[in-house]
Amino acid sequence: MSDIRIRNLCKNFNDTEVLRNVDLDISSGEFIVFVGPSGCGKSTLLRTISGLETITSGTLEIDGKRMNEVPSSKRGIAMVFQTYALYPHMNVADNMGYSLKIAGHRKRERLEMVRQAARMLHLEDYLERYPRELSGGQRQRVAIGRAIVRDPKVFLFDEPLSNLDAALRLRMRIEISRLKGELPNTTMIYVTHDQVEAMTMADRIVVLKDGLIQQIGTPMELYHNPASLFVAEFIGSPK
Ligand code: ADP
Ligand code: MG
Repeated sequence: MSDIRIRNLCKNFNDTEVLRNVDLDISSGEFIVFVGPSGCGKSTLLRTISGLETITSGTLEIDGKRMNEVPSSKRGIAMVFQTYALYPHMNVADNMGYSLKIAGHRKRERLEMVRQAARMLHLEDYLERYPRELSGGQRQRVAIGRAIVRDPKVFLFDEPLSNLDAALRLRMRIEISRLKGELPNTTMIYVTHDQVEAMTMADRIVVLKDGLIQQIGTPMELYHNPASLFVAEFIGSPK
C-alpha cells in the first residue's frame, strides 16, 4: 500500500527552477505516467520521489509519512533506468539476487525470491545465463527483475524502453502492463517522452512542461479535454 502526496514541491539546481510548485496525489496501486518534452523535469520529479534528489521546498509524503529527510534506501522504492548495467560476470540469478545479498538475505531465501520474480518475468529458464547470452529484451527484463525482487511499494521507471527497437518496445510495453496486473498493490510511476506509451499504459497521465504540471488526467480525459494547446498537441488530440 502506498499513497504519495506531494505539495508545493520546488526543486532548483543552482539558480534554475527545474520543478515549480508541483502538487500531486498518487493512490496506492496506480500506474502514473509522467510525460513531457526533454528537459521538462520528469526525471528530476522521479528522483525527488525516490530520494536520489533533495527537495528545495515543499513536502513529499508516502503513506502519510513525511519523506523529505528519509534516505532513498529507506523509502521502499525501486527504480529501473534506461541504461540497465547488469553485472557482466554474474549470471541472471546472481544479478537479480545481488541486492538481496547486500540486504542480508540468506542464500536459500534469496533463491526463492529470485525464482518468484523470474516467474513473473518469464525468466525461469534463463537464471543460469550470463548477460552477454541474452537479448536486449531479456536483459531489460532482468533489470526489472532486479528491482522487483525486493517487493517495493513503489516502482519507478525512467524511460526504460527508449534504448530498445520499436518491436521490442511494443513487447515490453505489454510485459510491463502485465506486470502491473500481477502487482496490483504496487504503485508504478513511469516516465516517458513517448505519447503512445503514455496513452496505452497509464491509469493517469501527468503532463509536464518547464517544471510545471500542465494537466493531470486519464488518457481519455486528456485526449478529449486537453487543458491547453500544448497538451492537445503533445497528446495528439484531434484539432
Ligand atoms: P527530463 O527528464 O524531463 O528530460 P530532467 O529532469 O532530466 O528532464 O531535467 C530538467 C532540467 O534540470 C534540465 O534543464 C536539466 O538540464 C536540469 N538538470 C537535471 N539534473 C541536473 C543537475 N544534476 N544539475 C543541474 N541541472 C540539472
Ligand atoms: Mg529524463
